[in-house]
Amino acid sequence: MTKTTKPITDAVATSINEIQILITYLSFFNRNRYKGSLRLQCTLVLLLFSMFIFSSCEKDTDHSPNYMEKIFVENPERIIKVNIIYVEAEESSNRSSYSLDEKEYLDYLNGYYFHRMGIGLELDNSKTLVNEELYDLRDNVGSEPSTFFMQSQESFDKDRLNIYIIKRSNIRAIAGMGRNQRVLLTDEHLYTSTSPHEIGHALGLFHTHESGNIMSTTERDLRQSFNKEQEEKIKKRIDQINLTNTTTRLAGY
Ligand SMILES: [Zn+2]
Repeated sequence: MTKTTKPITDAVATSINEIQILITYLSFFNRNRYKGSLRLQCTLVLLLFSMFIFSSCEKDTDHSPNYMEKIFVENPERIIKVNIIYVEAEESSNRSSYSLDEKEYLDYLNGYYFHRMGIGLELDNSKTLVNEELYDLRDNVGSEPSTFFMQSQESFDKDRLNIYIIKRSNIRAIAGMGRNQRVLLTDEHLYTSTSPHEIGHALGLFHTHESGNIMSTTERDLRQSFNKEQEEKIKKRIDQINLTNTTTRLAGY
């Protein structure tokens, strides 16, 4: 696969697009509360605050939930298809620089976090994206999210959960909210509660201060479950994604 380098105009367009998605989300909360310029100001403040959270919410350490029990169900009510995208620095690498056991990783996610809600993450495709800039994000301090969204623009599927795995970054993870289910994780943090946390963002969830909640930004060691409201929201989002999938497939006939 060729390296993805976007021209600057595309980069700006991508950023504007991402900001519009965020504004759409944030405007929802402001609806009926503020009017005119006050509403706009509040939206912008929330936007900036939200961007800050996204760039910095995952700096501390956390651990696998070794005190939790894995729960598997036979046929989960809902399935979301997953793409795993390994970001490599060079085209030539015959051998992947990652040694992920994909089945084991999905079992980790399903067993600890998703099957208990009747949701199954199912691997659809695993592929490689050669992109030196994304592979090592350490030089992109402060612009990691925009770099990620820009550089992954042509390699994700709208009807999948797209998990990008990279080697190095100053922040441990990034997730896209809105219409694109794009998650970026550094490989050293795959087996931590950061994974379901970012997947939660990608499926439309905001942060919460609820102790023990996956979307909490504090007491990372204690994060273990989504609440009922979040569960409903995720399910609704998965249904929408799968509907897109069906529509696309039908359109193909
Ligand atoms: Zn977060």
